[in-house]
Amino acid sequence: MTTEPAWVRELSTRHYIDGVFVTAEGSDVHDVTDPATERPIGQIVDATPDEVDRAVEIAHSAQRRWNRTSMLHRAELLHEVAADIRSARAALGELLTREMGKPYKESVDEALWTASALDYYAEVGRHEAGRVLGPAVAGQFHFTTKDPVGVVVLILPFNYPLCLLAWQAAAALMSGNAVIVKPSELTSLTTLKLMESFRRLPAGLIQVVTGHGRVGAQLVEHRDTHMVAFTGGIDTGRRVAEACARQYKRVLLETSGNDPFIVMPSAPLHVAARGAVFGAFLNCGQVCAAAERFYVHEAIHDAFVARVIEETALIRIGNGLERVDMGPMASHAQRERYERIIARARAQGGKVRIGGGRPAGLSKGFFVDATVMTEVRHDHEIVNDETFGPVLPIVKVTNLDEAIELANRSRYALGSTIYTLDLAESMRAVREIEAGMVWVNAPLLDNDAGPFGGRKQSGMGRQLGAEGLDSFRHTKLAMIDPQAAPHDFWWFPYRDWEAFQSSAPADKAHG
Ligand code: NDP
Repeated sequence: MTTEPAWVRELSTRHYIDGVFVTAEGSDVHDVTDPATERPIGQIVDATPDEVDRAVEIAHSAQRRWNRTSMLHRAELLHEVAADIRSARAALGELLTREMGKPYKESVDEALWTASALDYYAEVGRHEAGRVLGPAVAGQFHFTTKDPVGVVVLILPFNYPLCLLAWQAAAALMSGNAVIVKPSELTSLTTLKLMESFRRLPAGLIQVVTGHGRVGAQLVEHRDTHMVAFTGGIDTGRRVAEACARQYKRVLLETSGNDPFIVMPSAPLHVAARGAVFGAFLNCGQVCAAAERFYVHEAIHDAFVARVIEETALIRIGNGLERVDMGPMASHAQRERYERIIARARAQGGKVRIGGGRPAGLSKGFFVDATVMTEVRHDHEIVNDETFGPVLPIVKVTNLDEAIELANRSRYALGSTIYTLDLAESMRAVREIEAGMVWVNAPLLDNDAGPFGGRKQSGMGRQLGAEGLDSFRHTKLAMIDPQAAPHDFWWFPYRDWEAFQSSAPADKAHG
């Protein structure tokens, strides 16, 4: 395996502040480890409180200038950033794979989705900036307009560091905001690399400060940041939401998922099995909207299990820079957490049908098997909690009612999938499953134009689509009287006949 290119090390110990890659001043330095080799490939440094303050101050000035620019100008710049990302996709893909492990093909795909989101918002963001209302008073002009929120903090997880950044930053920037990003400590180098493409924007408009949760917390609590878009786990999300609530700061929460995947007898089993395996094992199961619990109709249960085992056996596991379908987990801690969940599921009676351990022949790296389990129940942790790892636990159900009932008996409500060719069943699933997204025979699809987000403890608010733009905008109501006419119909002095118990002429009741 080749060693990392020299430019990877050049991103080490940097922040991206005021349009420049600055050397970090802090003393808390952490190794960045390639999860496939366990070799350090660089270092990141926790931003100091002074560095965070400086980034916030710079963001303020940059935002004020940016908010005076035309939407066409913003769109042109975002398109340029998108084009640059497309050109840089090979380097971005290589670094993302080295830093968090996903197969190179998935890393390059992610770079392309990142560009696509920027292009999407460059156009959608200038399409609509308010509405004209029917005026309440003849001759007046009543309308809404959209204001930016100000300085927006993005707190991001490790699993999709490029496209999740773009989903939010593109909408925020087009709306006239400045953005400060706190990436996961597992994917900070890739995030810094992405900033090379963003250098086309005015300095200070988008900045990256690296570090652990403390850095994120300072940005969240900072009195001069105006909104937090958080993507990550439920518990961290709760802490972020509580801190925002204390300041009445706007917050967008995209938190954990534990998506149900229902398979009904009319589904083409070979397709459903492939869809299930992809939905469960993509990115080593580290997808917020991964299929995590499978409710399979009893009439096809055994055949489906057999198919899924066959498909799972075909998955090639290894270093994401080689010809593989699944890389390692992103970190040692992620693997430990996941393996504890598998061990507890076994202790509760769950049966491993394939996998369950670590792949043979890979002595280094945080690799785990793609695992299929049966004999698990809805009340087992492996079914009702987020695993965020490559396991496909299957529960047998007797009918669609039971499947939907179990799908909804959860604190999570992000995505959901059903495989069926029965139109009535499809429609029932769309109507009755409590989730932000329902995929019918189309697992895990995203669409820049389609709002993405969860309900219950999976999140609040939406990113992508028109809703995703409004997440980063205030609506302002404006009313104009071009004549500056006196408003006698409701100003002082009140007329005598309007007083209590006086008799009003019927035609004067509304001025
Ligand atoms: P975490 O919740 O551990 O971390 C998310 C981010 O929050 C990281 O950058 C982390 O920093 C930072 N952070 C930690 N503590 C604080 C704090 N007190 N204040 C502010 N920021 C803080 O999530 P993971 O990175 O482990 O990501 C996995 C989770 O993300 C899964 O639960 C997954 O479901 C969820 N997710 C949800 C998505 C959605 O759209 N709903 C999409 C993708 C993932 P650091 O890690 O550097 O310490």
